[in-house]
Amino acid sequence: MLPVVALVGRPNVGKSTLFNALTRSRDALVADMPGVTRDRHYGVCRTGARPFVVVDTGGLSGEEEGIEGLTAQQVRLAIEEASVLVFVVDARDGLLPQDRTILDELRRSGKPIIAGVNKTDGLDLQNAMAEFAVFGIANTLPLSAAHNRGTEDLVASALTLL
Ligand code: GDP
Ligand code: MG
Repeated sequence: MLPVVALVGRPNVGKSTLFNALTRSRDALVADMPGVTRDRHYGVCRTGARPFVVVDTGGLSGEEEGIEGLTAQQVRLAIEEASVLVFVVDARDGLLPQDRTILDELRRSGKPIIAGVNKTDGLDLQNAMAEFAVFGIANTLPLSAAHNRGTEDLVASALTLL
């Protein structure tokens, strides 16, 4: 069985776009509507030295009622089956309280975490990255999933942690 890398983060940060970039498929549902991916979604990343499974998840919103609660459960299952967690944040929104809540949850798993700072296209990279330094995550990488930038480094980083 291939090792599993899970993409986790708030709705609308670009997880499904990143999933597409990593798996080079249009399978993942990408939409402007936040939280559109309700289920876990699997693909294989073959762009690095070794292949691994990528799991796209619905966003963890911190809201545990109803369908949001179901999504949160799916996210927790994805965290459980993953060997590496990619915590996706949005450089345009900056650091939001929800991000901290999600990171706390990821840290409880004890699994290695890579912070993927997405949507850095058109932004001052140093400024964009500085805000997320407070996470204290050694592997914090700039990404532009929409332009397939930073994904090679992300794959390389994931492979070193698998
Ligand atoms: P998800 O809810 O986390 O799965 O986010 P999506 O992948 O559905 O993306 C949400 C929105 O952000 C869509 O409108 C995407 O086109 C946009 N988006 C995703 N990645 C990027 C990026 O790297 N740069 C920019 N500017 N927009 C992005
Ligand atoms: Mg999605």
